Amino acid sequence: MQENNGLSKSVRYLKGVGPKRSGDLAELGIKTVEDMIYYLPARYEDRAKIVNIRDLKIGEAQAIEGQIISVASRRTKSGLAMFQAGITDKTGLIYAVWFNQPYLKDYLIKSKAVALYGKVDRYDRVQIMNPEYEILKEGDPESVHMKRIVPVYPATGSLSVKYLRGLAFQAVMQYTRLLAEHIPTYIIAREHLVDVKFAFRNIHFPASFENLEKAYRRIVFEEFFLLQLALAMRKSAVKEDSGLRHRAGGELIEELKRALPFNLTEGQKRAISDIERDMSSGRPMNRLLEGDVGSGKTVVAAHSLVLTVQNGFQGCLMSPTEVLARQHFIGLSELLMPLGINIALLTGGMDPDTKNRIHSDIREGRVNIIVGTHAIIQEAVEFKRLGIAIVDEQHKFGVDQRVILRKKGDNPHMLVMTATPIPRTLALTVYGDLDISVIKEMPKGRLPIVTYWVEEDKRGRAYDFIREEVEKGRQAYVICPRIDESPAPDAGEGLYGIKTQNVTETFERLKEKVFAGHEVGLLHGKMSSKDKERIMKSFKKGKIKILVSTVVIEVGIDVPNATVMLVENADLFGLSQLHQLRGRIGRGEHKSYCILLADPRGEEASEKLKAIEGTLDGFQIAEADLEIRGPGEFFGTRQHGLPEIRFGNILKDFGIMELARREAFDLVARDPEFKEAHHRPLKAALEARFRDIYAPAVVNRNEARL
Ligand code: ADP
Ligand code: MG
Repeated sequence: MQENNGLSKSVRYLKGVGPKRSGDLAELGIKTVEDMIYYLPARYEDRAKIVNIRDLKIGEAQAIEGQIISVASRRTKSGLAMFQAGITDKTGLIYAVWFNQPYLKDYLIKSKAVALYGKVDRYDRVQIMNPEYEILKEGDPESVHMKRIVPVYPATGSLSVKYLRGLAFQAVMQYTRLLAEHIPTYIIAREHLVDVKFAFRNIHFPASFENLEKAYRRIVFEEFFLLQLALAMRKSAVKEDSGLRHRAGGELIEELKRALPFNLTEGQKRAISDIERDMSSGRPMNRLLEGDVGSGKTVVAAHSLVLTVQNGFQGCLMSPTEVLARQHFIGLSELLMPLGINIALLTGGMDPDTKNRIHSDIREGRVNIIVGTHAIIQEAVEFKRLGIAIVDEQHKFGVDQRVILRKKGDNPHMLVMTATPIPRTLALTVYGDLDISVIKEMPKGRLPIVTYWVEEDKRGRAYDFIREEVEKGRQAYVICPRIDESPAPDAGEGLYGIKTQNVTETFERLKEKVFAGHEVGLLHGKMSSKDKERIMKSFKKGKIKILVSTVVIEVGIDVPNATVMLVENADLFGLSQLHQLRGRIGRGEHKSYCILLADPRGEEASEKLKAIEGTLDGFQIAEADLEIRGPGEFFGTRQHGLPEIRFGNILKDFGIMELARREAFDLVARDPEFKEAHHRPLKAALEARFRDIYAPAVVNRNEARL
């Protein structure tokens, strides 16, 4: 207890921190001494090696040591205050030059010994520019800023790096000895880790780059280890026999197999058998089904739904949009109604009477399968016996919504599906407590989609191409980034003088002029659900030839006869989003084309467009997206379950993640309650670390899952 008090002391206990500075520090999240210790450097400068003045290299930052033999203050032609000091060691003379720091003349006095670090340049003579300095005292025990590998701290706001470094030095020297070790010694030994005190000393003030590396590895290991422990606990909390034990196979399943108009791919078969195993195991299934757009996840979902119906339960499938829910409803009805299965659609836009009727059908068990939107998780919806809940395009939902859905039954099986291929790195982090099935291959006979990135001057040719396809009997999408009503900040002439296309204007123009004589339709999120439904139906039937739309069609829509997609202002879309959009075509027997219309603006935009042009592999695209945008952006918000990772980099440090995961799952398997003495400190650390996201997992495990 005593010791913890030490670490949780206010930073004001450190020398040089008054009320003003402590306010500035608080803005960096540094309130206690411990916060200071956890505020890690962004990079390091190697000032350990003192270079002889004679041997300095022009253009590089280097460290020197010497005596001041001359000083001069003057003003430059442009009026800047300049302070200059001549410095010599035994090997040569160099001038150090500082701008705008006239007060230096009071510190850097002739004959003092100094250490300097800065970039060496040659103007009319060799100079070291705006160097960091430290005055050397006789018998100085330890230099903070010089003669070592020095830390450089990130985003220091109004505080100088030097000031922060001074504080970090005090905190590290006086307080790291109080840090408690959480990791059991057997793991420290087995994974060749260094202990916690060594780690934090060396992450700030490394004695060598080798020590720095060890320190970093240890700190990241601990972070990942705690995360994986939390995941392992959530997973192990699901008790044997707390789930519905379904019997695999059965008459309905056989009939379903016979009714399918195609042979399942290997990936689909594997996913189905994973699911059958889960659903018959006696534990509630908790599985993520990952498969690129068009890989055929729906039929896997259908299979799971039929399995639960076969066993006398109800199933539901929740989709993020009405358009998609309706499509699933139609598709599943065609497939399953002939088997005598009752299916209902439930969406927010329905009139109250219809809704009430469906609610009572669900409650009294008159329907077997419910397909719908968020309307499914409304309070009024009660299932008679929910056996499985499926979430389609799960990344569109928040964690809360999935939790509510689960509670609609008594530990129902859960299947979440996503078309955003999640790189393995992230899967282990975000979905580390789920089982995962991946459908890698596309159904046979799919022709690869051809993607072209073209600039504005080819617009006419792109239109001609669409016309040709339509005249061959095919259909096309034209995707715009905006609806017109709420003008974007850059409405009209865009950021770079290029117009962002809004969907209604584009629609008018295409309908009246460009494709006059062909049926053109308009679809966007602000239309009423009735209108959306009418338009989608008409496009699906082939009446509408060209559908002008926003990204509402991004997920799930299946119209195999659509073979062209033109994306306006393609550079404004995210990489994964473009991939999702493109997945709307290439679903039938005809060759499909995706035309990305964008004038290149900036490096990142071109990289993005080239990436999407270059590959059809969703996993590759996801990896690229992850690299370009980082994990936070990739997932949107914390809502989607990505825990905060402060120290490690889940891409770069994937190796450490795997080790940490193995150790964590191992530990929880052997000692799930953290009863062994050397595991106890971990429990406290976990509770402190994951208070917000994971605490429910510890307290009430079942509810917090997913
Ligand atoms: P997604 O994984 O994107 O949800 P869907 O389930 O919508 O994909 O399937 C895309 C299309 O592929 C649908 O038209 C579906 O009927 C078809 N399909 C699914 N599985 C197969 C298969 N094994 N062979 C041929 N076509 C298939
Ligand atoms: Mg789908």
